[in-house]
Amino acid sequence: MSYNINKKGYYGKFGGAFIPEMLYPNVEELRQNYIKVMAEPDFQREFNLLLKDYVGRPSPLYFAKRLSDKYNTKIYLKREDLNHTGAHKINNTIGQILMAKRLGKHRIIAETGAGQHGVATATVCALMGLECIVYMGEIDIARQAPNVARMKMLGATVVPALSGSRTLKDATNEAIRDWINNPVDTHYIIGSVVGPHPYPDMVARFQSVVSEEIQWQLKEQEGTSKPDYVVACVGGGSNAAGAYYHFLEDTNVNLIAVEAAGLGVDSGESAATSVLGREGIIHGSKTLLMQTKDGQITEPYSISAGLDYPGVGPMHAHLYTSGRAEFISITDDEAMAAGLKLCKLEGIIPAIESSHALAIFEKKTFNPNDIVVLSLSGRGDKDLETYINHFKL
Ligand SMILES: *Cc1c(COP(=O)(O)O)cnc(C)c1O
Repeated sequence: MSYNINKKGYYGKFGGAFIPEMLYPNVEELRQNYIKVMAEPDFQREFNLLLKDYVGRPSPLYFAKRLSDKYNTKIYLKREDLNHTGAHKINNTIGQILMAKRLGKHRIIAETGAGQHGVATATVCALMGLECIVYMGEIDIARQAPNVARMKMLGATVVPALSGSRTLKDATNEAIRDWINNPVDTHYIIGSVVGPHPYPDMVARFQSVVSEEIQWQLKEQEGTSKPDYVVACVGGGSNAAGAYYHFLEDTNVNLIAVEAAGLGVDSGESAATSVLGREGIIHGSKTLLMQTKDGQITEPYSISAGLDYPGVGPMHAHLYTSGRAEFISITDDEAMAAGLKLCKLEGIIPAIESSHALAIFEKKTFNPNDIVVLSLSGRGDKDLETYINHFKL
């Protein structure tokens, strides 16, 4: 069995491009060109230079000694939190803005929920001098004022989505409508390994720099390029896809995906998409998503805005159903406690998304000689208020 994408754009039975006919030309143009463009030496050169000098890559692979001592195993943190803009999302937006330029697009649209992807997109648009329009639910705009301000400072136009629940899925509908109306000059930057083919594969390839670095960094420190475990939190699945990428077909490397259980998997207030989800179509691809009996998408909940997504990318749906990855659900409280523990033990304040991944060490025992690489997807600055309220700091 393969865990990578096949020629038709599927991971097992998940993926594909379920899109309105009017979107077909845009998606098809991307599908026909993305591999070719990414392989061009000139593209590679520009992408790698920006990852190095603008993003600050390679991100360190840090041996967390005190954390390792506490859990009696070898824990390495892949420090995506040290990237420019504070998370892994910038790896993808840099890749896609270069792709847009090569395809002759000069207008960029995106949708955002918590605002992290909006900020990463506005950042690269400023970098390249391209027009940037970010759709965001009216409710989210009110909840995420600092990120709205960041986007505006970076020169983006933030357009409120006023329909439906006025959150992420409504912003997505607005972005898709915009793209249909502007098929020639506009590129739609999707922020995770979701959406119609080729997006999940394209985003995974841009994020795969993470596992490429893990291989040589681990070789330097441990004399082997293969960890025993790779651990990552999963919202849509892009930081996990990047951390897993070069290990997907090597089943000696165990993959652990951590989803947000919110108040508890069975509480009705959760974002544990794979465990709770059923097959369906969201955002143009067939995958696992949380839905009612009659197929209405269920509103997800997590204390972490970045994991609060009702679906999961098709790669992860396949990793779940095939058993290639182990899926673990972590509650709000478990994640918050693990985040605070990292602060005290290592002097690193993690994003609450990443804190979910860290919480598995309380649930699962590893052998003393196991090498566990954990994707520390982002830093906690953006989450300070949530930490303050939770711990009454
Ligand atoms: C957005 C985000 C996530 C979740 O997105 P994935 O596509 O699943 O990686 C995780 N961590 C951080 C810090 C984020 O900003």
